[in-house]
Amino acid sequence: MTDDSPAHAFETMQIHAGAKPDPATGARQTPIYQNTAYVFRDADHAAALFNLQEVGFIYSRLTNPTVAVLQERIATLEGGVGAVACASGHSAQILALLPLMSPGDNIVVSTRLYGGTVTQFSQTIKRFGWEAKFVDFEDRGAVSKACTKKTKAVFCESIANPGGYVTDLPAIAKIAERKGLPLIVDNTTATPYLCRPFEHGAHIVIHSTTKYLSGNGTAMGGMVVDSGTFDWSASDKYPSMTEPEPAYHGLKFHETFGPMAYTFHGIAVGLRDLGPCQSPQNAFITLLGCETLSLRMERHCENAKKIAEWLEADDRIESVSYAGLKSSPYYRRARKLAPKGASGLFTFKVKGGYEACRKLVDNVSIFSHVANLGDARSLIIHSASTTHRQLTPEQQEAAGAGADMVRVSIGLEHVDDLIADLDQALTKALA
Ligand code: PLP
Repeated sequence: MTDDSPAHAFETMQIHAGAKPDPATGARQTPIYQNTAYVFRDADHAAALFNLQEVGFIYSRLTNPTVAVLQERIATLEGGVGAVACASGHSAQILALLPLMSPGDNIVVSTRLYGGTVTQFSQTIKRFGWEAKFVDFEDRGAVSKACTKKTKAVFCESIANPGGYVTDLPAIAKIAERKGLPLIVDNTTATPYLCRPFEHGAHIVIHSTTKYLSGNGTAMGGMVVDSGTFDWSASDKYPSMTEPEPAYHGLKFHETFGPMAYTFHGIAVGLRDLGPCQSPQNAFITLLGCETLSLRMERHCENAKKIAEWLEADDRIESVSYAGLKSSPYYRRARKLAPKGASGLFTFKVKGGYEACRKLVDNVSIFSHVANLGDARSLIIHSASTTHRQLTPEQQEAAGAGADMVRVSIGLEHVDDLIADLDQALTKALA
């Protein structure tokens, strides 16, 4: 495919976007450029690269050819203009916020977030002088009220980990728009195959590519994708994007790079100074994962729906929280925002509470008891005692990770084997 090829379907772009046969060797698959630094043509070329007057490779903390293909692949799949790859989903969150925030600023965030994100936002970012205001995103008035002069972004997950909650992206985007703020959406659980937040008004998408995008539980990674649609110059709220940048001789990012300003800032300032670059090896693994994303997500969703329905009908189970179930309060929203399926992640409450949950995870045999999601393998965890352990009981409930809940990430094995495994483990848990 060439740069001027017409737009293609998702299934085609997940294999081809960003990639060309290697110009040096003709290698068809994207090579792993296991390399740190790139030879300059001459002193003028070096100066032009360092001044951001020319785009090219300098040093792999900033840019690397394998990582660049992954950036373009995921930007294309999300419908964005550019993307910055980084070491993990957590570093993507910090990189996404860096161009927007100064000490004393805040972000308005959903209470329904991955536990690690709740901790990062409620504890660690305070050390930068940043604050996160946690709000129930079902209460639109509260979201609107929480946005003040010092608010620089609104943040949520499309399909939340772990609770089977789906954010009403168009409604939240409308509030962000009215307040002149970018909406940042963590699209990790949904993936761009199931939900494309930019089509629902989001401005920035972040990913933990560690999950479904790589797909085999092998490679850590994160991605910040920009839609290119937010007008950074519409107010004086974003000086890093609009004011002269001293480290680049007074260059103004938005004025110079237009819709690519946020992506360039992410690389030229975020990766340069914070340094959480993605390794080329991990980018290569994630590119392989992307090639089969649509097929895997279809099977993840199909298996998850069958298992959620089976659990819901079982009298050892108190309730199942999965937006793919008709009984879910978020079923209709999921049908609208993620019509191909509600992902492979959900929670359920076991009769017998905390102790029964712990015994259940101790007695599975196909499911693996690990703190991860989006693997080809089925995974199980008791969130309240692990991924959401640092949270207060109130925060756990709000995030959909109460003490009597088990979270499963349904894999690609045969669904009958997965049901049989849960069945025997439930019998042992409640014996
Ligand atoms: N966002 C979500 C929804 C997650 O589930 C996770 C990790 O579980 C992260 C972000 C953080 O990603 P990483 O573990 O790649 O840093």
